[in-house]
Amino acid sequence: MENGQKGFDGAEAMEQSVERKNKARRKILHFMLNRESTTKSDVAKRLDLSMPTVLSNINELMETGLVVEVGEMESTGGRKARSISLNENYYYAAGVDITAHHIGMVLVNLGGKVIGQQRIRFDFRPEASYCMELVGKVQDFYQGEVPVERLLGVGISLPGIINEREHSLAKSHALQVEGFNLRMIEQLLEVPVYFENDANAAMMAENPEEKGDVVYLSLNNTLGGAICVDGRMFPGRSRKAGEFGHMLLVPHGKKCYCGKEGCADAYCAASVLTGNGERSLDMFMQSLGKDKDADKLWEEYLENLAMLVSNIRMIFDTDIILGGDVGGYLGGYMAQLAEKVLKYNRFDKEVSYLKNCSYQKEASAVGAAKHFFQLQFPRLF
Ligand SMILES: [Zn+2]
Repeated sequence: MENGQKGFDGAEAMEQSVERKNKARRKILHFMLNRESTTKSDVAKRLDLSMPTVLSNINELMETGLVVEVGEMESTGGRKARSISLNENYYYAAGVDITAHHIGMVLVNLGGKVIGQQRIRFDFRPEASYCMELVGKVQDFYQGEVPVERLLGVGISLPGIINEREHSLAKSHALQVEGFNLRMIEQLLEVPVYFENDANAAMMAENPEEKGDVVYLSLNNTLGGAICVDGRMFPGRSRKAGEFGHMLLVPHGKKCYCGKEGCADAYCAASVLTGNGERSLDMFMQSLGKDKDADKLWEEYLENLAMLVSNIRMIFDTDIILGGDVGGYLGGYMAQLAEKVLKYNRFDKEVSYLKNCSYQKEASAVGAAKHFFQLQFPRLF
């Protein structure tokens, strides 16, 4: 009896020690993710782990090839510390952004770099045949590009509210669908699949856990937004937080696709600039400075965007990341936008809180893919 008791305690102690070790390893991997390089002593210091724990974990991770030495850190004397980083080509994830008329696909490596990208015209249909065709296109995109055992999963972003429990798209104005079952896509892909709202996914591409409090405004053919508080997404009570597109911008103004009049979406969506898809956004931006009508439209657009942005700033008092299709082009027009924003906002003296997005194209697909690095990959070790 006494021996049996001892045996049980021994097994339990062993389990606890393995769990402690795994926990330390997950912490180390999380710390190294999104950092270009670090040193073993920095890992120990920043994570409050003992040096032997760090050394044994890092050495084992180096044996697997996931952690590599990348050079030496400058030092003020004594031995130079070797810098280490994650091997960015050890794991990959794919991202897919579904819109009403297109799908955008990306392959992202562990370092967050987009190593493959494709956007194709593919009209959404709420049918099983759409799901089958979609899966075929996605598999054609990534197969042969990376070893399938190194692909952690496929993240899919959709313009609507995702019901995680039911694995369905609860509602999407943009796709004109309600309660669309997503399980078929999941089953056919045969790799882990993750679904996320497109604006939340675009926010995830920006590594929000490092930014703390931040708001993302996604300027696509429909507007989207995401709110991050203390590094975590704020979904709201019915997952509708951040629907900035349907804030009233102009009373009795232009008709919005939601049925209301004067919504921000009718003034700040990319479709305002493309004439509802008559020309590409790239063509429109190229015409600036050469075409007076385009210049006038752009001026009006920036004026409306300034109004929306200052409203958002008044509510949240945080950085605002300008993303989506138009966000990718705004870099060269920030001074013009800033001038207009300051006109509407007498509380701020400058607009350094306005940030350009990190991924100029396919941010939603990238963010959906990156989900697998944040949550899944540290669990594998
Ligand atoms: Zn609306």
